[in-house]
Amino acid sequence: MHISLKQQVALVTGGSSGLGAGSARGLAEAGAAVVINYHSDGESAQSLAAEIRDGGGQAIAVGADVSREDDVARLFAKTIETFGRLDILLANSGLQQDAALTEMSLDDWRTVIDVNLTGQFLCVRAAVRQFQRQQVRPAVSRALGKIIQMSSVHQRIPWAGHVNYAASKGGVDLLMRSVAQEVGHQRIRVNGIAPGAIRTDINADTTQGGAGKKLLELIPCGRIGEVEDVANAVVWLASDASDYVHGATLFIDGGMTLYPGFRDNG
Ligand code: NAD
Repeated sequence: MHISLKQQVALVTGGSSGLGAGSARGLAEAGAAVVINYHSDGESAQSLAAEIRDGGGQAIAVGADVSREDDVARLFAKTIETFGRLDILLANSGLQQDAALTEMSLDDWRTVIDVNLTGQFLCVRAAVRQFQRQQVRPAVSRALGKIIQMSSVHQRIPWAGHVNYAASKGGVDLLMRSVAQEVGHQRIRVNGIAPGAIRTDINADTTQGGAGKKLLELIPCGRIGEVEDVANAVVWLASDASDYVHGATLFIDGGMTLYPGFRDNG
């Protein structure tokens, strides 16, 4: 199977680190021009964009807070001003602000919902509006546009001590499927990715050392995931190789959602 995203423009939110950066690299390697959105780490985003350009690709870095409507409008305007169109959105930005329920402040709750869920709503809405201004180019892609929403296994697995995060990802699941139902007939493809434990900054304290060993008990495959495990799936979902996949969530979790605690237990 040969995948080419040539002549397509991809926007990756939260693209300066972790899964966003790895996916931006993968999309660029497949031939897409890439807009790398960052929130706080402009230097990493700029250096990734320079790396892609040095390798013969096209990329820019654009700062924006995805939870702010005006920032999202500016991010999409810059994308269109630079590359003329948008074909692929990877709504990837996300964060954790963990606390036991009784210790969780309203601010902890709101910050996580604002970025993880409202941020996806704002970016998905802007992407659909942009796709609707464009025409399908059958020689380039069968779809008018493709949206990939980064969720988590915690859209399915409850997570004590992280109720804001789990609620945000549960929301992403139904946001994704409802949008897919609403816009599928326009040839806009919408899917989700639900990673398990992938080694990035967001979970550095649980994937290393003793905590990492304990985490392995939850993963039938017996290893922590790597960024490329997710980036490869992003590229596939962005391509016509997955053209009949719509409204689906791909769990990339080494089997974490198989309830491995039941293997020798009952
Ligand atoms: P990460 O911390 O490296 O990436 C998160 C990115 O989101 C960062 O680049 C950060 O700057 C950006 N971001 C945060 N607030 C933002 C805002 N207001 N506006 C724009 N961008 C903002 O961690 P990651 O693991 O790469 O996480 C990426 C996504 O994957 C997140 O949605 C996360 O919930 C999800 N995820 C990760 C894992 C994992 O194991 N790494 C598992 C499940 C889900």
